[in-house]
Amino acid sequence: MPANILLVEDEPAIQELIAANLMRAGHTVLRAADAEIAQRIVRDALPDLILLDWMLPGQSGIEFARRLRGEERTRGVPIIMLTARSEEHDKVLGLEIGADDYVTKPFSPRELMARIKAVLRRRAPQTTEDAVEAAGLRLDPSTHRVSCGEQKLNLGPTEFRLLHFLMTHAERVHSRAQLLDQVWGDHVFVEERTVDVHIRRLRSALESTQHDRLIQTVRGAGYRFSTEITVAEAE
Ligand code: CA
Repeated sequence: MPANILLVEDEPAIQELIAANLMRAGHTVLRAADAEIAQRIVRDALPDLILLDWMLPGQSGIEFARRLRGEERTRGVPIIMLTARSEEHDKVLGLEIGADDYVTKPFSPRELMARIKAVLRRRAPQTTEDAVEAAGLRLDPSTHRVSCGEQKLNLGPTEFRLLHFLMTHAERVHSRAQLLDQVWGDHVFVEERTVDVHIRRLRSALESTQHDRLIQTVRGAGYRFSTEITVAEAE
């Protein structure tokens, strides 16, 4: 599954070069030339990863990163800092504010792509092609198949994405708003009850192999994928 990547870079030539490489790798690219535009994009839809230039006109990349880390909704978005500054204390500062990685200009597109891949694999596994398996349920993004042993299960595209996200973030509770951000990429224009509709469809698609029990409702909080089934929690 391709990732939605927000590229915050004020130098047009560098922005163009990086964007072209990201698109060639199959990703969707959103571009911003400063933190203010980036903030507006993030407000509408949460990206899977942010490539953030340190030196920006107006608010600096480091200040913007700090702001993202300070807010509940944006705290978990992976950030890779891009910078022309190679001094060790800058690097430490970048990592201290919570950047996931730090790439020094000039860098080769190939190196940057490898870093992005590593961060996505670690922090946003739902954007990779790696197959996931839990309690005999297997989801393979490369073939877009969900199966249990020999049995193939039929899921709609939204249910597939929903299950992929839940399986790659198992045992954690996700609110409806978080699921809208992560699976629909939109927490503003999609109603929260839409999540319930697709959870219901997902459960019914998993019913024949009894994996519907792994999709748990956590009252007042949201949903969780868990292979630990307790009587009190099962619905
Ligand atoms: Ca710059």
